[in-house]
Amino acid sequence: MLTENDIRINLENIENRIKAACERAGRNRNEVELIAVSKNNPADCVRSAYNCGITTFGENRVQEMTGKMEVLEMPLNWHLIGHLQTNKVKYIIGKTKLIHSVDSVKLAKVISEESVKAGIVTDILLEVNVADEESKFGLKPEEVEAAAVEAAVLKGVHICGLMTVAPYTEDPEKSRPIFKQLKELSVDIGRKNIDNISMSVLSMGMTGDFEVAVEEGATHIRVGTGIFGARDYSI
Ligand SMILES: *Cc1c(COP(=O)(O)O)cnc(C)c1O
Repeated sequence: MLTENDIRINLENIENRIKAACERAGRNRNEVELIAVSKNNPADCVRSAYNCGITTFGENRVQEMTGKMEVLEMPLNWHLIGHLQTNKVKYIIGKTKLIHSVDSVKLAKVISEESVKAGIVTDILLEVNVADEESKFGLKPEEVEAAAVEAAVLKGVHICGLMTVAPYTEDPEKSRPIFKQLKELSVDIGRKNIDNISMSVLSMGMTGDFEVAVEEGATHIRVGTGIFGARDYSI
């Protein structure tokens, strides 16, 4: 587990790299939101990052996220970024700022039903498996528009954009075509002006490739290891 000082140094480094990527792309720094991915790191790491000015955190498992919510008293924005099972939806409704990982219309329906019950509308992204990897969750690019149209009529969700996880690679340039494709897809769907669908959010880029993602138009980047160090999978 890293100390608060280590986390502060890492955050400064990430921040400088985000700024440089924004400059290269002619974008404003405030167009990109950094989500600190705290999965497999204890709540104390979240506290350390909060002390360094971070208020937005990402988790990929419901139980881990709600566990941290219970022990942390600060006002934090939680984003769910990992695969969500329909039977777990009820535990997070009203507690997440944005669900990035909606990979089926069925899941969107359950999120909507639970949200309607709670009297709220939940912001969601559709997860796209751009590279069509067997091991990954997400809609195929060619399925996304139809899924968006089907989910758009649901009363309890608002579709805010798209999310992808690029295939693992040592070379961030290999992610560029993936990010370009997600951006194109979001522009194509956005142009159709479908009711209850906005394509303002593009969640892409992780520790290994967030600079490329920023250059290609990411509005939300999800950085874990680069902030908190290597994850401990025993917790
Ligand atoms: C773990 C995870 C991240 C962060 O990955 P790092 O490589 O540690 O930055 C981002 N997005 C998703 C969906 C994740 O599961």
